[in-house]
Amino acid sequence: MAYDDSNIFAKILRGEIPCKRVYEDEFALAFHDIHPLAPVHVLVIPKGPWVSLDDMSAHAGPAFIGGFFRAVGETARAMGVDASGYRIVANNGSDAHQEVPHFHVHVFGGRPLGGMLRRQE
Ligand code: AMP
Repeated sequence: MAYDDSNIFAKILRGEIPCKRVYEDEFALAFHDIHPLAPVHVLVIPKGPWVSLDDMSAHAGPAFIGGFFRAVGETARAMGVDASGYRIVANNGSDAHQEVPHFHVHVFGGRPLGGMLRRQE
């Protein structure tokens, strides 16, 4: 899938749409999810045209990928959940219900988060 820069996170990166910023560096921007599922629910997005983890891991360089994941850790520390614990989730593609076609990592925390996935009935 080719990157489409009309997606909502591309607009946030360009400053065309506001966000509640938590952390930012040269690799990433982190902001509060608009529909939080936990007391802490922050999205970390790379400052590059990557559709998904699949795309970024195939096409970005190791320095960028390392910088991005360092920013995820910085974001969790900025939110104060590094000691209590947190979960990161990255939905990749249709089976995972990825809604926004710009790679993003969800950081959840602030309460016990339960098991990983619900078993299929
Ligand atoms: P995903 O299903 O992994 O693609 O998740 C997309 C996430 O983006 C959802 O949790 C939405 O609530 C969130 N979202 C969509 N638009 C915005 C926005 N303008 N600002 C912050 N979060 C957003």
